Amino acid sequence: MTTNYSEYEFRTQPWFDQDNFDGFNFAIPMKTMVIHCFDPRAAEIPQAIAAHFPDEVYPGENVLDEAGNRIGHTRTLFAVSNAGGRAFSALQSVATMEYLFHVQNVIVVHHSFCGATGFRPEQLLEHFHHHHHADLAPLIEQGSQAILNFEDSVKHDVALLRNSPAVPKNVKLYGFFYEMNSGTLTEIVRDIPV
Ligand SMILES: [Zn+2]
Repeated sequence: MTTNYSEYEFRTQPWFDQDNFDGFNFAIPMKTMVIHCFDPRAAEIPQAIAAHFPDEVYPGENVLDEAGNRIGHTRTLFAVSNAGGRAFSALQSVATMEYLFHVQNVIVVHHSFCGATGFRPEQLLEHFHHHHHADLAPLIEQGSQAILNFEDSVKHDVALLRNSPAVPKNVKLYGFFYEMNSGTLTEIVRDIPV
């Protein structure tokens, strides 16, 4: 038996109107995105942010229908993790979350003893030149590679979000430093549209 899995798509569901879509917020009250590093030692960053902003729900729980299908969730804060917790790598997610959920807040968090503080940006490019005969320069924004200074990297990423067409102008932006040994979260920058 073969299937193209189309029965698992929203667009084939009789109740779903793709051309008059106005968000999935009725199912999941997502309003905030947290961008953080995928370092397992910093995995509790979303919980730390939810504790800092008391109206956020994380991790939350599934909402089930009578048949046990997962039709929603109580979480308000979605996390995207990547190398260093960089905004550049998260732009596609921000744009998608705007379309699906009308995202209201985007929060960048960089953390202590991040691997991205262990090299200079040109070292990564040189590694790919020498070992893989590849030029990554056109692929990755240079300021989004290494972390040379946490204040600069957090401010860089909030500015990158603010200047990106993928981030609606009404979205509130925050940048934090997370000291993973003490669990301390420090706000470095905020950009709240007036
Ligand atoms: Zn890291």
